[in-house]
Amino acid sequence: MQYFPIFVNLVGKSVVLAGGGEPVLAKLRLLLKTEAEITVFTPSASAAIAALAAEGRITLIPRDFVAGDAKGARLAYVATGDETADARVAALAQADGALVNIVDNLKDSDFITPAIVDRAPVVVAIGTEGAAPVLARAIKAKVEEDLSPLLGQLALLAKDFRAVADQLPQGRARRAFWAEYFEITGPRAFAAGGAEAVLEVLDDLLNRHLAATPAPGRVDLVGAGPGDPELLTLKARAALDRADVVIHDRLVAPAILELARREAVLIDAGKEGFGPSIPQSDINAQMVRHALAGNHVLRLKAGDPVVFARLDEEIEALDAAGIDWAIVPGITAASAAVAAIGQSLTRRGRNGSVRFLTGHDVAGFADQDWRGLARTGEVAAIYMGKRAARFLQGRLMMHGAVPDTPVSLVENASRPDQRIIGTTLRALPEATATLEGPAVLLYGLAPRAASAALEDLKEALS
Ligand code: SAH
Repeated sequence: MQYFPIFVNLVGKSVVLAGGGEPVLAKLRLLLKTEAEITVFTPSASAAIAALAAEGRITLIPRDFVAGDAKGARLAYVATGDETADARVAALAQADGALVNIVDNLKDSDFITPAIVDRAPVVVAIGTEGAAPVLARAIKAKVEEDLSPLLGQLALLAKDFRAVADQLPQGRARRAFWAEYFEITGPRAFAAGGAEAVLEVLDDLLNRHLAATPAPGRVDLVGAGPGDPELLTLKARAALDRADVVIHDRLVAPAILELARREAVLIDAGKEGFGPSIPQSDINAQMVRHALAGNHVLRLKAGDPVVFARLDEEIEALDAAGIDWAIVPGITAASAAVAAIGQSLTRRGRNGSVRFLTGHDVAGFADQDWRGLARTGEVAAIYMGKRAARFLQGRLMMHGAVPDTPVSLVENASRPDQRIIGTTLRALPEATATLEGPAVLLYGLAPRAASAALEDLKEALS
């Protein structure tokens, strides 16, 4: 982020503009929504600008901008229609202490004016740091559609009621009250009888919420998927919107944590296959403690929580404490990895079963049914297999696996830094040595393009 968004208080503050044409008029239309003192400096004001001055909505000074004109001004907009003049005025206004925007000149401006959706006091500002104004306009159109025109009025009425509603305990109870007001009760009352009707129902709504017994805390054990936020389930997305506390594994992608409610407490449970990690008992204790305090806890796990995620240990701890829980499955790394190489985990005539293996378990390298796996056509998705590569290779070859058996390594599946390495059982240890991020080893599968190339080669040689 190069530009930090803020909302500037312009009540009674001075804003100056230099120029008299359409660009200045466009900015005036926006600025006139505020309570700023607006002054335009130009020897050649358009009729529309002159009319605003005649109505007393702005002050028009019919001359060029000079040093000192922006003294005490918060903001200065410059659009004289001449590049050299713009640069001169901008320098003068900056020297006067104002933040300067040269219209259509991002590089030399101090700030950007975002695209605005106005439901004052609710205001949405959309910026793309100059990268894609068309996109900003498209987002604006979408937000305009999504936000009821009533929203501003409902928010204003809510503002006066805030202090009263603070009788509800902070957190979930208060959120539930406001959610019902904004989504259901408020719009309905407004449609029926305007602001007065809204004020009437607010009291009833509050009393009903005050009388309700607070819902006990709970824990949702949720799959965050392999990393691409678009691979979250709708249920996971909704849980992120609701949760008071999010306890996440280190492997959960930052792009997904970004989606949590702003007020949510984020706790990094820091569990990785190897290296320093928080003991499972501490994670259990944190979940239980936060849920008993009445919080909605989201236990967010990479991939699918039902695959190599110590789910049972956590559920047992929750059951022991009498806490309600639910599992929300997610897309496991193997699914994302196999999609990345354009293959299918099962295939008629090749393999009617597929195994999910872990390269290591609590006791070290994990033992598996090597004999079964060594048969031609077998497919396995191997998790946590990086360090176990040599061990896996040794066991499989010992049980008769063909050294040319294809293996695809998929690192950071579904993330922007996804990497695919097609290799063979013979070269597995060398290939895994180059991996840095989390990776799934797809034993028995070659990347689709690579396998096609191999077929071509075979054909060419025959
Ligand atoms: N519950 C998770 C697995 C956790 S075990 C799931 O269903 O995906 C941790 C292992 O998952 C890592 O060692 C790695 O093998 C695999 N993994 C998790 N995310 C991955 C990703 N984005 N790309 C490749 N492998 C991943």
